[in-house]
Amino acid sequence: MARLKNIAVSVNSFVGNAAKVDIKSVQLHELEESVRALGEPVYHATQIAEWLYKKRAASFDEMTDLPRKLRLQLTEQFSIGKIDVVRVLGAQDTTRKFLFRLSDEALIESVLIPASPALYGMRSDRRTVCVSTQVGCAYGCKFCASGLEGFSRNLRPNEIIDQILAIEREAADKTDNIVFMGMGEPLANFDNVMRAIRIINAPWGLSIGARLITVSTGGIAPQIRELAKESLQIRLAVSLHGASDEVRNQIMPINRRYNIETLLSACDYYASRKKQHLTFEYILIEGVNDSDEQARLLARHAQRVKAKVNLIPYNTVRGLPWARPSQDRQEKFLSILRADKIPATLRREKGHDIEAACGQLRLQTKKVEQGSGLLLS
Ligand code: SAH
Repeated sequence: MARLKNIAVSVNSFVGNAAKVDIKSVQLHELEESVRALGEPVYHATQIAEWLYKKRAASFDEMTDLPRKLRLQLTEQFSIGKIDVVRVLGAQDTTRKFLFRLSDEALIESVLIPASPALYGMRSDRRTVCVSTQVGCAYGCKFCASGLEGFSRNLRPNEIIDQILAIEREAADKTDNIVFMGMGEPLANFDNVMRAIRIINAPWGLSIGARLITVSTGGIAPQIRELAKESLQIRLAVSLHGASDEVRNQIMPINRRYNIETLLSACDYYASRKKQHLTFEYILIEGVNDSDEQARLLARHAQRVKAKVNLIPYNTVRGLPWARPSQDRQEKFLSILRADKIPATLRREKGHDIEAACGQLRLQTKKVEQGSGLLLS
């Protein structure tokens, strides 16, 4: 029992200080240790994983081929979290946005993108789920809705996994790709995100290939280097959004901490360790970062680290002053990159009408809830 407690403590130190460890936050080998410590044969751990990730059981009671005693002991040791769907926006065949409520009432968003061109160099881009990694965000990018109300907390691994499971349940279909591009900064919640990724990738888990998993960062250079040391061949996208420090400082406060040179050198390191191309995401914002000069500089950076470039017309956020450039300007920006032979795409982005940009739905819902609260009081 003492040994079991130790496992719980060590897992807890990764995933937060919940009273019980959520079973969807642990790896198979940890589950095996727990089962062994309970005096049961380790193959039960594989059965448990199968119940969770293949048969999608929501309680230990459903795991009928486990001894009853073990089921009871598991209930004492672990919780099985779930998240509630609060709202779904969008239609069956288009981008669908999910607003979830977590056990502590926190709201997070995830997006299901049914079919998109191969944006991040993935083999197949049939069904992509975009997950959140934090409640709110601490990085305060000026154009983004997620950071408007600040940062609340990191998501635990099971809360990341549960977004995918809930979407697959709602959509009655499997996911091909996962992108960490929802609310929050994945690399600021490094350990929990890596734990979730191992479960997403594992054959006993969700079994999604590492190359079909993309982590997006606002540019935490030291953590990019850490990610480069991980053995999994997951993909990296870097939100650049400005090609000079002058422009990037205006819209992304993180640039004052890790400027473009520091960021590019971390990207260089990542590309050389992983032997794979990374992607620069570049939102086009009118009059801010959409000049010819920015395009030429961006091309230089992309050449240096052999990055692909995804241009994304800005999704307007209510209450923020930023706008997307005209179609002509977007195309001109793209043509400058292409003239320099940079593999670049211009996203005819989906989801503009459902406020699918990072953090928008949550903000809207919180406002409505707060508004109705005011009316009642
Ligand atoms: N923090 C991470 C991941 C979350 S944001 C990051 O910065 O990469 C995922 C992407 O959505 C980022 O590139 C972010 O800059 C972009 N984004 C945020 N608000 C947006 C908006 N209103 N329109 C278009 N893209 C937006």
